[in-house]
Amino acid sequence: MYPARFDYQAPATLDEALDVLGERGEDVKVLAGGQSLIPLMKLRFAQPSMLVDINRIPGLDFIDASNGYLRIGALVRHNSVVTSDVVRRTNQTVAHAAPWVSDPIVRNLGTVCGSLAHADPQGDWASVMLACGAEVVARKKSGERVIPMTEFITDVFTTQLEPDELVTEVRVPKYAGPSGGTYLKLERKVGDYATVGVATHLTLDAAGRIVQAGIAMTAVGATNIKAVEAERALIGAEPTADAFTQAGRLAAQASEPQDDVRGSAAYKRHVVEVFVHRGLATAAELARAA
Ligand SMILES: Cc1cc2nc3c(=O)[nH]c(=O)nc-3n(C[C@H](O)[C@H](O)[C@H](O)COP(=O)(O)OP(=O)(O)OC[C@H]3O[C@@H](n4cnc5c(N)ncnc54)[C@H](O)[C@@H]3O)c2cc1C
Repeated sequence: MYPARFDYQAPATLDEALDVLGERGEDVKVLAGGQSLIPLMKLRFAQPSMLVDINRIPGLDFIDASNGYLRIGALVRHNSVVTSDVVRRTNQTVAHAAPWVSDPIVRNLGTVCGSLAHADPQGDWASVMLACGAEVVARKKSGERVIPMTEFITDVFTTQLEPDELVTEVRVPKYAGPSGGTYLKLERKVGDYATVGVATHLTLDAAGRIVQAGIAMTAVGATNIKAVEAERALIGAEPTADAFTQAGRLAAQASEPQDDVRGSAAYKRHVVEVFVHRGLATAAELARAA
């Protein structure tokens, strides 16, 4: 099916894009990689009156590790994260997740920030960013604000972005201390959305105890879920198998999976428990080696 009629603008600068978003208001959509928006428009689930294509705006495709953050700009494609040395050196949860996002064709076009703005509960990046304590930087004509990832997604396919706001970057804090993390994903076939995904992150202190823990889950609720109780139970604990088993149980309790073609709710909850344990064990191993 063809999309409904829409106006199209491809501004050459960020200011120009913010002007258009400010003028046209409610019914405008930002076009980044188009890997989620275009299929929705073709199915007529989305019928924006205008697309603001940001792909010609220079300076939005940066990945850098400066001022205490790993920063990923609005036009960074999933594949640029896969191949980034900066990411590999800075954050293993982000690095391990990137190759799991879809297939090579989608990874060449789709963006990390577009995935966050889309807020699909099956999207992998939101779990990674929740586990890592990331923040989204949003800009509109009147200024910029920083939104913690824990507040950014408000419901299924819904964020707190205003219609005239554009995400310019997502930034992940660098951790003070040896850290490790990973992303585990169960999918029916290569390139599929997650049946279950789990992002984990740990930072250890000098004595080897856990000082910071991040756990978040994909495809087991109406939004990506941060396993807050499980994270809390790990703070101050030794990184042992018992501690990870308890965290796995708490995370499974916090998940809200549904029966569907990918599996039963009970099966998915079990996968959460196993993945949290396994992910934390890997995170601890990587942190000790750091
Ligand atoms: C076949 C297929 C398989 C896929 N598999 C997976 C998968 O396994 N895991 C996964 O996580 N994702 C998967 N995806 C989704 C893919 O990752 C998309 O690329 C991503 O969800 C959206 O990024 P995009 O840049 O393409 O955004 P677009 O499609 O351009 O936009 C998506 C939404 O975000 C908004 N938006 C985009 N950028 C911004 C911005 N900078 N500021 C404000 N709003 C913005 C748009 O207005 C739109 O509402 C798959 C997609 C396809 C087609």
